Amino acid sequence: MKHYDSIVVGSGISGLTLANLLALNGQKVLIIEKSNRIGGSMSRFVKEGIPFDTGFHFTGAFLQNGILHDMLSVLGIENKIEPVILSDEEGQVYVFENDNKKYYMPNGVLHFIKKLKETFPGEEEGIDYFFNLGKKIYEETISLDLLRITEAPHALDEDYISLQEVLDERIKSGHLKGILSTLCMCYGVKPSEVSVANHFRVAYGMYDSVVRIKKGGGAFAGAFKDTLLNLGVDIKTKCTIDEFLDIEDNIVKKFVLSTGEELSCNQCIFTIHPKAIIESLPKENLTKAFLARVSDFEPASGFFSMFGTIENDDKDFTPSIVSILPSDDVNTLLEPSNDGCSALVLMTSYEDIDNKRVRILTAMEPSFGEDVSQWLDSSVGNRPKAYYEYKEKKEQQIKERIFQYNPAYRDSFKVLCAASILTYRDYLNSYECTAYGIKQKMGQFNVFGKLPLRNLYACGQSSVLPGVVGAMMSSFIVARSIVGRDDYTNFIKTRLRR
Ligand SMILES: Cc1cc2nc3c(=O)[nH]c(=O)nc-3n(C[C@H](O)[C@H](O)[C@H](O)COP(=O)(O)OP(=O)(O)OC[C@H]3O[C@@H](n4cnc5c(N)ncnc54)[C@H](O)[C@@H]3O)c2cc1C
Repeated sequence: MKHYDSIVVGSGISGLTLANLLALNGQKVLIIEKSNRIGGSMSRFVKEGIPFDTGFHFTGAFLQNGILHDMLSVLGIENKIEPVILSDEEGQVYVFENDNKKYYMPNGVLHFIKKLKETFPGEEEGIDYFFNLGKKIYEETISLDLLRITEAPHALDEDYISLQEVLDERIKSGHLKGILSTLCMCYGVKPSEVSVANHFRVAYGMYDSVVRIKKGGGAFAGAFKDTLLNLGVDIKTKCTIDEFLDIEDNIVKKFVLSTGEELSCNQCIFTIHPKAIIESLPKENLTKAFLARVSDFEPASGFFSMFGTIENDDKDFTPSIVSILPSDDVNTLLEPSNDGCSALVLMTSYEDIDNKRVRILTAMEPSFGEDVSQWLDSSVGNRPKAYYEYKEKKEQQIKERIFQYNPAYRDSFKVLCAASILTYRDYLNSYECTAYGIKQKMGQFNVFGKLPLRNLYACGQSSVLPGVVGAMMSSFIVARSIVGRDDYTNFIKTRLRR
């Protein structure tokens, strides 16, 4: 029976990060991936020769030695991940459809604050309070510092205060509250349900420096593929673990793959949705309380998306993020039962293909399992007519809103395809169709680190924080736990030359 130090289940950004870290620490590692390619939500797809991103469009914490930059440096791929900065003056646009107001916001937290104060006179004190709180949370969160991270929970007082409470107490303007809670769409949880601490752990890095990445998620997947190959990591695609056998003293001794192959390992780390982990494990080794905790997790939002090109010669075209809000209240916009208009995010970017600059527009509207509940049993190529009618109607509605925002797009936006949350589920294996895994609600105790079977671990986007940065962070924390504190610390110090 072949033996590995570690088996990593799932090859999204979390699995790739973890496999890389363990291999850099001298381990013999195997990655097991259900899909036919590695990358998970970082995967791209190509339509009419143009590559489009699925689950990675922009990130924060990249510039000025942000945590993402540090993590990439430790992994040795920082030079392969090239940022594309959004337009300084107009990179972020907030549009309120209810009274047709547009706010153009600059990049960088200090510029952002300055512009907010100019735009919303009388709110200066609240704005200062809000961003000072964000800075404090960001600085006090030990998981945002690679040398201080530990698996032990380290809660701040702000972990028990919702984002909505802070906004209601400190901010008067509805539009300003809307602007300050729009980034909830970057983790798919309502402002009334998320702690202000977790909001800022995801959002502060984006206020500080929001960037796109040249070649998007493909740049990450490609960089990892090269290094994993060099480090001798084995990868099995179209493969899952089907059985956990010879369990003694809560330690699994034998792992049977869907290919029939039997393996042993010191530890096996799941980077997949906690409910998917539980489904695959022998139930007799899990307590009722643990099973109940996991089954209570709710899904964060997913997205209905449209992908297309902008066919004009706009020389000033720069990447941007436009958030279109039909009302100030982001709680309603992230409510699955909301049957009114939803939020819509437009992302413009470009790809250089054969010396030609192709301008890309991706539109994403939050969506939930409830929207497609009648077709949950269907799969790609096997959907009923009513599903296609739903998709077509949604596309028409979204297009009209895009044209209302920018009438010039009526002639220049060419739609190449659309994806419902079922499309994402079936191509990315996203459990319960969600973009960000579980809804990380205030006071919730996630599944992370060692599982009840003692040589099994959990990490990934549902463990610490959602999004690419959160998923990678979870892998650093689990890597520390596996290689041991001292070896991990020396490793990080050497790689960061600190
Ligand atoms: C539409 C959309 C837009 C997004 N936009 C952004 C963005 O702009 N910025 C950002 O930071 N984040 C964004 N996200 C979120 C981000 O993509 C995720 O947080 C992150 O990529 C999750 O990484 P992961 O490794 O935890 O999980 P995943 O990427 O989901 O990887 C899990 C992997 O496990 C595999 N798998 C599943 N079950 C099994 C099994 N039983 N055995 C073996 N393999 C299995 C899957 O096929 C998959 O490859 C977006 C997500 C979506 C869907």
